[in-house]
Parts: sequence; C-alpha cells; structure tokens
Amino acid sequence: MNECNYVTQGNYHALTMTLLCRKIMEHIGLNPERLSIEFMSAGEGIRFAEVTNDFVKKVKELGPLGDGEGIDKGGLKSKLAEIRKLVPYIKRVKNDKLGTRLKNTEEYDTFFTREEIDSLFRDVVSYYIEPDKCEACMICARRCPVGAIASAKNQVHVIDQEKCIKCETCFEVCPGQFSAVRKIVGESVPLPLPEGQRDIVRKVKEKGAA
Ligand code: SF4
Ligand code: SF4
Repeated sequence: MNECNYVTQGNYHALTMTLLCRKIMEHIGLNPERLSIEFMSAGEGIRFAEVTNDFVKKVKELGPLGDGEGIDKGGLKSKLAEIRKLVPYIKRVKNDKLGTRLKNTEEYDTFFTREEIDSLFRDVVSYYIEPDKCEACMICARRCPVGAIASAKNQVHVIDQEKCIKCETCFEVCPGQFSAVRKIVGESVPLPLPEGQRDIVRKVKEKGAA
C-alpha cells in the first residue's frame, strides 16, 4: 500500500472511493460485496490470479445485479441514474475525506458511516437564482459546466434543475453585489419564472438625484 512511487498516491484515493461506493451500494439495497479493492505489486502474478478468480466466483454466486438482492430492475435503473447524476456533487462534498490516506484496514468499514450516507442523499443541495436579484451579467451561464442555466441578455437567468449537477460554480461566481444564487436544502425549489416574464427592468437614476 505504501509502495506507490507516485506523489499523487492515487491508490489511497482509489481505496476511499471504493469504500464510499460500497456504502452507496448498501444505501440503495445492493450487496457491497460486488465491489472490491486489493493492493498488490506488479510482481505478484499468482496472487493477482487468485484474488481475481475468488472475486469472479463471488460475483457469480451473487447473480445478476439486482436479481440477487430482489430489487426491481426499473427501480434500480432509476436509482443508479440518479446517483450517476450526483457524482460531481458527492465528490465535492466528500472531497476532504476522499483524500485521506487510510493505513489501518480496521478503519475501512467504518470510515463512511450509514448515517453519513443517508444524510448525503437526504440533504442534497439545490441551487436557485433569485429573480429579483439576478442582473443578467451572464457569468454563471458561461461558467456552468453542463449548460444548465438558461441565459439571455437582460433576462433573469434560470437553472434547469434536471440538468444541474450541483457543482456549486454558479454560487461561487455570482458577483457579491448581486448574490443572486441561493443554496436550498430540505425544501422544494421554487418554480422558475415562465419564459416571457424574465425581462429585467432596471431603474434609471433621475438626473440630479442624490
Ligand atoms: S450548480 Fe450551477 S454551475 Fe453547477 S451545474 Fe448546477 S447550475 Fe450549473
Ligand atoms: S452570475 Fe448572478 S447576477 Fe449574473 S446572471 Fe448569474 S445569477 Fe444573475
């Protein structure tokens, strides 16, 4: 484990990522034994073959994904699609822990707790642009990595919640004097302004006004 020659120590990152994925699998009712990680050197060919054969045997015994756990295929597909969409969010909120160099195997199973994973999905954050604060500067739309922000000149910007991957970029880049992007947790996101009602009416200062 400590023999990786690269400063990035990607093996530790792979380990924490695997532990997180195993807990997420448990969260949606999948058997976490379907995912495994082992560390070995390039010189351990026999061990590699043994570990791989054992793992293949185990997965065959568990049966096709979902069948072994008695999960309905359609439900599993939509759960997996939902989690796939949340991957950037999960990586962002768990970034510090994912960078931990876990050296004690006894810590593996408790490194991510069930309650932690439950709250990860229960308290998912959403981002919403306050129509009365947005000044249509377009910065958020230019920086959104997935094109989730409907943007037009002099129009209130609107986040498409279906496309949003919760990367938080819009929240970070919206200029402080506007602070138009709000984080929402534990409540529903307000409906977006309908198209045709998004024009921004700016007040023109009267000449000589203080
Ligand atoms: S959080 Fe903002 S920038 Fe990130 S994907 Fe969602 S809308 Fe785009
Ligand atoms: S960065 Fe802020 S003010 Fe500018 S368009 Fe986006 S939400 Fe509106």
